[in-house]
Amino acid sequence: MSNTMRAMIYTAPGNIELLELPQPRPECDEVLIRVAYVGICGSEIEAFVSNSPRRRPPLIMGREFSGTVVAVGERVAGINVDAKVVINPLIPCGDCHLCRMGRTNVCPNRQLLSMHRPGAYAEYVSVPARAIYELPSGLDLKRAALVEPLANAVHAMRIVSNPVMHNVAIIGAGTIGLLCMQVARSMGAARILVSEPSAHRREVARKLGANQTVDSSREDLFAAGATFTYGCGFDVCIDAVGRATTRKQAVQLLAPVGTAVWIGLHERDAEINAMDVVTNEFRIQGSYAYTDADFRKAIQLLADGYIVTDGWVTEVPFTDGVEAFLELASGESGRVKVVLQFDGK
Ligand SMILES: [Zn+2]
Repeated sequence: MSNTMRAMIYTAPGNIELLELPQPRPECDEVLIRVAYVGICGSEIEAFVSNSPRRRPPLIMGREFSGTVVAVGERVAGINVDAKVVINPLIPCGDCHLCRMGRTNVCPNRQLLSMHRPGAYAEYVSVPARAIYELPSGLDLKRAALVEPLANAVHAMRIVSNPVMHNVAIIGAGTIGLLCMQVARSMGAARILVSEPSAHRREVARKLGANQTVDSSREDLFAAGATFTYGCGFDVCIDAVGRATTRKQAVQLLAPVGTAVWIGLHERDAEINAMDVVTNEFRIQGSYAYTDADFRKAIQLLADGYIVTDGWVTEVPFTDGVEAFLELASGESGRVKVVLQFDGK
């Protein structure tokens, strides 16, 4: 094993490069992972394009990843070299009152691999031993790169309190929207409408089981929603885009006592008709990241075959990662999800 590695580094605003770096060494409570697959994350593209203050260069991003354990720190027990694992990149403090309540996703002291410490756009990454999950049979390293985004979708659907999800609307058929749709189906959603301006993404949504898709750039979403629900409205609406307009749509499409989940993070503000919220007892639920329980559930859903990844996840060699990242950042890419593959050593 050489002592250097290739890493895709966000070096300066607007700039990302493939460079050679020293390999990290695991601290006593860490394990060293040789990365197998890493997904290019939509929030990272967004941060890169908007020069977000939350991710400051120089930084190795990449938080949706799987790999093989190649070394363990001296105080790590019960983890074997060569184990195939997926990594929960969100590291809560474990001590604060929110962590003690099980709300680790909103721990104020949380650290995120790829933001507060190096992520996995690199051949090797050292991670806390408690962040890794060994892959069950039925889940390979490639599909395991989808666990992290899927955990976000599991969380969004799990915190919906409506016991009956007859009609569900999903706004936005990007990675999170498509995963929310499949999780909703696995939880018993009877009928799902997807709103999405891209023809390709609408086609993917239909192949993955959407009962109806709406071209939100040309069609009247509310008329389509009213027809779809026989005038009743939706029990649950997921905004997987995060613009002011889509957040508002998610609320306006609801049936009385329905729940809108806002998971997309694109714009800061939203304007809604508060009178309607009060008089219809709408619920508006924010959804952020995931807990360990959501992460485990995501692993299980993938292993048990409930989540289809064919047809919308594109594999690209890591050496072409910079090009793939910049293409996604340009907004011109037709790809829904890109997963970088390492050649292994
Ligand atoms: Zn905490």
